[in-house]
Amino acid sequence: MPTPELLDPDKEHTLVLIKPDAYERGLTGEILRRIEVKGYRLKGLKVKKASRELLTAHYVEHKDQPFFPALLDYMSSGPLVAVVVEGDRVIEGFRTMMGQTNPTLAAPGTIRGDLGRDWKTPAVQNVVHGSDSPTSADREIALWFPELVFKD
Ligand code: GDP
Ligand code: MG
Repeated sequence: MPTPELLDPDKEHTLVLIKPDAYERGLTGEILRRIEVKGYRLKGLKVKKASRELLTAHYVEHKDQPFFPALLDYMSSGPLVAVVVEGDRVIEGFRTMMGQTNPTLAAPGTIRGDLGRDWKTPAVQNVVHGSDSPTSADREIALWFPELVFKD
């Protein structure tokens, strides 16, 4: 029986980041509300100013992209909120809720579509992050919440 602070390995989890632009604008409650009314559960939550080391590990797949330095500047520009969310098909479900990467193109009704816009900054400031696959979710949760990962 896992202790309550550990994640149930039989359930699906995703990592959500409420990015520094959203935290600064006071959108944390609105985003958490959308997650909860959808029926997902919050299993871990912290406000954190992320180091460039952590962000480099988190975004390692993009490290050779031209926008990578701007992405790190953006994501380390202030505190963000990291959240572990649990639910049936939550990885795909939260990707649907957040909408596509560019907030100008994200559909109305999505988090990025409703709350984001094109700020004409070097990095695309788009309010939230959500893991894109089970492999990414496991890797990202271990990076941001090492204390939560289930160990048997
Ligand atoms: P996501 O999964 O929708 O967040 O998008 P990606 O994994 O492709 O990119 C990670 C993050 O990098 C995005 O959320 C944006 O903040 C930023 N980003 C992605 N593509 C671009 C781009 O073409 N230009 C810039 N400046 N930033 C980008
Ligand atoms: Mg991505």
